[in-house]
Amino acid sequence: MKLKIYSSLSKKNEEISFVDENISMYVCGPTLYNALHIGNGRTLIVFDTLYRFFLKFCKKKITYVRNITDIDEKIIQKSQQSYKTPEEVVEENYKLYNKDKENLNLLTPNYEPFFTEYLPKMFDYIYDLIEKNYAYITHKNNIYFSIDKLEKYDFLQNIEDLNTSVRINNEDDKNNSKDFAIWKTTDGFGYNSPWGKGIPGWHMECVVMHQELLGNSFTLHGGGIDLCFPHHNNEIALCYGRNNTLCTNIWVHNGLLNIKEEKMSKSINNIILMKDIIKNKFDGDVFRYLYLSTHYRSPLNYSEDKLENSLKNIKKIREFKFKYNNFLNKFCESVYSDHLLEDFNTPSLLNYLHNKIDDFIQSIDLKEKQIIYTTILNTLYMLGFNLSIRTKLSEKEINKLTEQRWNLKKNKEFAESDKIRTLLHNNFIEIEDTSYGYIWFYV
Ligand SMILES: [Zn+2]
Repeated sequence: MKLKIYSSLSKKNEEISFVDENISMYVCGPTLYNALHIGNGRTLIVFDTLYRFFLKFCKKKITYVRNITDIDEKIIQKSQQSYKTPEEVVEENYKLYNKDKENLNLLTPNYEPFFTEYLPKMFDYIYDLIEKNYAYITHKNNIYFSIDKLEKYDFLQNIEDLNTSVRINNEDDKNNSKDFAIWKTTDGFGYNSPWGKGIPGWHMECVVMHQELLGNSFTLHGGGIDLCFPHHNNEIALCYGRNNTLCTNIWVHNGLLNIKEEKMSKSINNIILMKDIIKNKFDGDVFRYLYLSTHYRSPLNYSEDKLENSLKNIKKIREFKFKYNNFLNKFCESVYSDHLLEDFNTPSLLNYLHNKIDDFIQSIDLKEKQIIYTTILNTLYMLGFNLSIRTKLSEKEINKLTEQRWNLKKNKEFAESDKIRTLLHNNFIEIEDTSYGYIWFYV
């Protein structure tokens, strides 16, 4: 059994044997200079779902690393603007990040390293690069990676094709304008190093963490497509310089999330933060549905209509789960193969599950209904949907209210009975009247 997944390095689908092989994956986590936006949420969900897939089907060891960037130029800039220390900026955003992770129902990776714990390891790495002539120290005491040493530098991206929005810093102490900083000497905030006070280059940070936690070679590296160049391209250059490997052949990138066809950016003030929108109405399941109903590599054009549509679909799924929970049984079918094995096609799997819900409703065979119900539920859980009860009302309160409503209705006091129905609806409970009486269920 193999998962075919597109690699930005080879520009084609690569195969991963996931049943009897160890799996190790590294995903670039957030830089804690700000609260997460809904584009960050997409990356988190895509790779959380891939991790869940491996957990479900891999019989060997799985190691998932999702790092935390706790120092870089953006964090220092934010600390200066807000009169806080970089540590305070990180701590504040770390709390928000943890809340987002909980809301999104993310599994905890095996490792969530903070870069600053790896500083001494980075110094060793830099020494090695300097010794191998892949890095040089300048008169300003900055250290750069020397791309002229490489036979080829365009690993993930043809640099000449890049638009001007991806800027290459052209400091005057570089040998080649494309050389990138792995250590920058600073006047203000910085860490002590063998080369004086300074801060690490971002690309260097991830490389040190995956080297330490996953070794010279691992199964796949993931992140948002916006990290392809320069971040991931330069990670490959660093690995190549030090270890003569590309660390992995499989570089998986999820597409961007755009707001009404436009990229999220500070300059047009269209950034939507996760914490501002993930609330009671649009919970983690709604966002997971939104993200997984678009293929992970396609751009996702976010709009309120799209979010409402995800809510509608999640409501249908919840209704199915709670209304028919007496069909739960231990038999189910494996449905991942046709959909996820082909470049992790989650939208196709979700469509399939919706069709299966229709099959369930139409079927009159009890055994078949049990198998369909259990298969759908197990697959949804495997994809990371929570589908938990959302109401704050106790069962006793619900029974009392539904009974009251039923008696009012029998007495033809429709206005009063509808009031209770609305109250229940607002508390995520639906009622259905049948020829035998009524049933209520959670949604
Ligand atoms: Zn990274």
